[in-house]
Amino acid sequence: MTSSLNADLHSHSTVSDGTLTPEELAARAKANGVELWALTDHDEVGGQARAAAAALALGMGYLTGVEISVSFLHQTIHVVGLGFDPDNAALVNGLRQTRGGRQQRARQMADGLAKVGIQGTFEGALKFAGNRDLISRTHFARFLVESGVCRDTYEVFRKYLTEGKPGFVEHRWASLKDAVTWITQASGMAVIAHPARYKFSANEEFALFSEFKGHGGRGVEVVTGSHTAAEYISYADTAREFGLAASRGSDFHSPNESHTEIGTLPSLPGALTPVWDLLANRIQVAVHPSLGAVAPATH
Ligand code: AMP
Ligand code: MN
Ligand code: MN
Ligand code: MN
Repeated sequence: MTSSLNADLHSHSTVSDGTLTPEELAARAKANGVELWALTDHDEVGGQARAAAAALALGMGYLTGVEISVSFLHQTIHVVGLGFDPDNAALVNGLRQTRGGRQQRARQMADGLAKVGIQGTFEGALKFAGNRDLISRTHFARFLVESGVCRDTYEVFRKYLTEGKPGFVEHRWASLKDAVTWITQASGMAVIAHPARYKFSANEEFALFSEFKGHGGRGVEVVTGSHTAAEYISYADTAREFGLAASRGSDFHSPNESHTEIGTLPSLPGALTPVWDLLANRIQVAVHPSLGAVAPATH
């Protein structure tokens, strides 16, 4: 395979904070020319079987995916897992623990918003959550837009849901070591998601990449919906410097909200190893249609 393959290895469905079902997302990816897809819901693999079935029925390749919330040096970062066994017990238990505190956090967020006069946001956000265990800031943002408090979800994050704002609640997520270990022990590859989004100093970022590698992490998102073209180039350098494979994914959440459409990003810059080259034996594909069968991933 080559770096020009249309691979989109980062997207969200109604199983976390996206607005399309896994099947609707698969159809949209296919319509946009995606050849290899991964659904990467936050802290949850409940959509994987549906996503894989939909992808294979449409003739796309599929890699299992997840985006794990991690606390590292007092920030929340995200680690994407690709090509793992979604039934692996340690991974499934670890993700369940990671999801565990979300309801309580959401109640605290609602308390903070009530203090500035915005009532009923816990129930309001829950209405938007396809999965009650996965109530996220995105669901609060949608409710505040629906109720006319803000014009769009970006404004909600800026005014209410980011550090120092009334609806922000500090939260302890998985450790970097645990997240990477859950993924790799389930035969998958751990990938640092959208590194340019974090507010680390150069030293802190170096610590992130070194520790990630030390724990067995092998990839980094270079081309993502939340990077600029200049950031593609700088994280291509980082990938080469740390000997990491490069990934590409839109981080698509919703036709109404996402700036980047699924399957429409530029190709990876040159002289990088695409993650899909290292995951070739983890890609699920439909065998010849006349056989009507589907090749399982080799575990
Ligand atoms: P949570 O896991 O509940 O903290 O929610 C994180 C999600 O909120 C991310 O995955 C994005 O979908 C969304 N998000 C985070 N920051 C922003 C932002 N500044 N603007 C818009 N969406 C954001
Ligand atoms: Mn999200
Ligand atoms: Mn993310
Ligand atoms: Mn994401």
